[in-house]
Amino acid sequence: MEAHSHADLVPHSPRRLHETWILDHLRRQGRASRAELVAATGLSRATVSALAGELLAQGKVVVTDVAQPTAPGRTPQALALNPAAGLVLGLDFAHSRVGVVVADAAHAIVGSATRTYASTTPWDTRCAIAVRLARKVLAGDAPLAAVGIGIAGSIGGRPAVVDAIRDAFTDAFGVPVRTDNNARLAGLAESVWGAARGGADALYVRLSSGVGGAVILDGRVHRGRGGTAGEFGHVCVDPAGPLCRCSNRGCLECYVGVEAVLADSGAATLADLLSALDRGDRRASAVVTAAGQRIGLVLSGAGNVLDVPHVVLGGDLTVLGEHLVRPVRQTITRHLHADRAATVALAELGDLDGALGGVALVLHDPSIPFTGPLAPRHLTGTGTA
Ligand SMILES: [Zn+2]
Repeated sequence: MEAHSHADLVPHSPRRLHETWILDHLRRQGRASRAELVAATGLSRATVSALAGELLAQGKVVVTDVAQPTAPGRTPQALALNPAAGLVLGLDFAHSRVGVVVADAAHAIVGSATRTYASTTPWDTRCAIAVRLARKVLAGDAPLAAVGIGIAGSIGGRPAVVDAIRDAFTDAFGVPVRTDNNARLAGLAESVWGAARGGADALYVRLSSGVGGAVILDGRVHRGRGGTAGEFGHVCVDPAGPLCRCSNRGCLECYVGVEAVLADSGAATLADLLSALDRGDRRASAVVTAAGQRIGLVLSGAGNVLDVPHVVLGGDLTVLGEHLVRPVRQTITRHLHADRAATVALAELGDLDGALGGVALVLHDPSIPFTGPLAPRHLTGTGTA
């Protein structure tokens, strides 16, 4: 019956709907005070207090310490989802290593690990390595609720690889599995826990051998119709430029990918390049300034179109620090409309950013339920039913 199935998806009473808003906010943000819930949902203090009381009584939420006390001697209580609602496994398959993070529904990190592999390692071997590593980090009997996986490179262009990865983890853990591009997930993680936290909108660019990124709008990753939004690396900066691996010409990645910057500067490694910059080497400085200007030009274009002046830079190239950030910031500031104040920050989450993004992918996906404490059998999915 159509009306019935619809009613299952959409809370049919205002109380249920408001409860969903509160649970959804806690799930995305990890923890929030009652005042923050009032601001986030637009509900009255009285309504939030009443609903919070019911959710506490039902065991769906718990009281936890708030991150930042607002005044000395006063520690306001925050609410979080019940950590027993299940663990989330986040993974990042990078070109030559896999990162694993396990977090609970209240956003506490339970464990993490990384393993390297040769970049030629076949996908079934990579999956076996990752499943073993995940089981080690999960050790214990806490229930697993879902898995979020970041994968380097194009997702849409390799459906067989993505399906094989999803199947391997579904078979191993018997829980919902979600996948996305790992650079996009790193951007999502920065928006939840890192350099872009607390703000609704941000442009994230990951500058490594490849150049990818994410567009965060209203606190959510914008994926676009074809799931490729945030591909800053394949914005054309010169139609007559070199051929890119994406088969277009003159993409940003051709000029600011790590290999291109090293080749232009004559440095063997990023550490050598940083030393040259610190010594005031003119060639190194000219190359990195030009790279920063190209990055800034692409970001100011995106920032103008989307009206988003907040930028986070991540990836290997950011070891160059202010040598890179300064020309990016100057170029964005120069080209942003209407004297908007641009902010350019460095990513904060380090090597586990993609795996943390896998955790966030699951926590931000309302199709995966976190309605209450799960039974321990969910850990393996193959245990006694
Ligand atoms: Zn390209």
